[in-house]
Amino acid sequence: MNWNQHFQAALAQQHNRQAYRSRRVRRAGIRPPFLESGGVYYVNFAGNDYLGLSHHENIIAAWQQALAQYGCGSGGSPLVSGHTDAHEALENQLADWLGYDRALLFASGFAANQALLLGLLDKHSVLLADKYCHASMQEAATLSPAVFRRFPHQNHQMLAGRLAEYSGRRIIVASEGVFSMDGDCADLPRLAALCRPHQALLLIDDAHGIGVLGDEGKGSAAAAGVQPDVLIITFGKALGSMGAAVLCNRITAEYLTQTARHLIYSTAIPPAQAAALTAAFTYIRTADDLRSRLQHNIALFQTALHHYNLAERLLPSHTPIQPFICGSNETALALAAKLRKQGLYVPAIRPPTVPAGQARLRITLSAAHEESHIMRLAESLYHAI
Ligand SMILES: *Cc1c(COP(=O)(O)O)cnc(C)c1O
Repeated sequence: MNWNQHFQAALAQQHNRQAYRSRRVRRAGIRPPFLESGGVYYVNFAGNDYLGLSHHENIIAAWQQALAQYGCGSGGSPLVSGHTDAHEALENQLADWLGYDRALLFASGFAANQALLLGLLDKHSVLLADKYCHASMQEAATLSPAVFRRFPHQNHQMLAGRLAEYSGRRIIVASEGVFSMDGDCADLPRLAALCRPHQALLLIDDAHGIGVLGDEGKGSAAAAGVQPDVLIITFGKALGSMGAAVLCNRITAEYLTQTARHLIYSTAIPPAQAAALTAAFTYIRTADDLRSRLQHNIALFQTALHHYNLAERLLPSHTPIQPFICGSNETALALAAKLRKQGLYVPAIRPPTVPAGQARLRITLSAAHEESHIMRLAESLYHAI
C-alpha cells in the first residue's frame, strides 16, 4: 500500500464512522453573533468569542496604531530579538493583574501547553491529569518522559490515591479551569488542598474562564479564591484574538525560559498583536456589562430548555459552554443539519474529542447574542428532535 492508498483507506473508514471532519469558509465583513458561509447567514453558536471582542473598535484601533509603529512581525524568537516593549508591557500587565511574579507569552494555547509540560517534566516526575484535559496537554504528556496517569473526570478520590501512590516524587496535577467540551468548572479549592501535602504543582488551563468568570474577568481560579502554581490563559476565546500566556513565579519563569522549546525556537507574536491584547485586557477588566449580559443569556437559554422539557439533555454548566447530549454521531450530525436549515450554526462534536456515545451539540453563548436568538435556538431544538 503506498501513502495515497493508505490515506484513502483511512479516510473511507472515517467517513463510515460519521467522523469525517471538514472546514467551512466564513466570509469577511460579518460581525458577531452572525456568520456567513456558502451564501447563507447564520446565528453563530459555535464560537468562543464569548464577549464579542473580536470586533471591538478600541481593540482594532490599538492593533492598527501599533502596526504602524512596529510593522507586521516580531522578526525573531523572544530569546533572540523578537521580544519588544509591547510584549514586555503585556506580560507585566498580566502578571500584575493576576497576582503572579511573571507572565510568559506564547503564540497559542496549544504551544503554551506543549512548551510547559515538555519544559517542566522529566523522567523523574509524574503528571496526573484530568481525563478531559485538552488535546494539547495529552499530546505533550504522551511525548514527555514523565510518568503520565489520567484520573477520571473530576474524580478527586482517584486523584488522592494517585498522589499517595507517587508521594515523594515531583508531581504536577493538571486540570482545566472550565472544561472546554463539558462547560463544568474544576473544584479548584479541592485540587489545591489535595496538592498541598505532596508539594505537587497545580497547573490550571483557564482558556475558557479568563475574561468570563470572576471579579474583573480574572477567571475561574480567582472566582474560586485559588492561585494555581501555574496558570495558562489563552487569547483566542473571550479576548477575541490569538496567543496565550503562562503565569507563574519568578523561578519557574526562568526555568521555562531555558527549557520551553516553543519559546526558544519559535517566532514571538507580532508586537502589534501584543499591544492590541494590552488594550483588550484593559477593556475586559471593566466589561461587567458584557459579562452580565452573557450570564443573562445563559440563564435565559436554560430556562427556555426547561420550558421545552429538554433541560435534562444539557450537561450541568453555568458557563457559556452548554453541551446538548445527542448520543450517536448520526443523531448529532442530523440535529446540527436541521438547525442549520433554521439559520442556526451549532457544531456537532464527536469522539474522540468527547467520549464515545456522548456526541453532542456544543452550544456556546455570547454576550453578542440577542434574546430572540436564544429563544429561536431553544424552539428550533424542540422542533428538531
Ligand atoms: C482552545 C484551548 C487551547 C488551545 O488554545 P489555542 O490558543 O486555540 O491554541 C488549550 N486549552 C484549552 C482548554 C482550550 O480550550
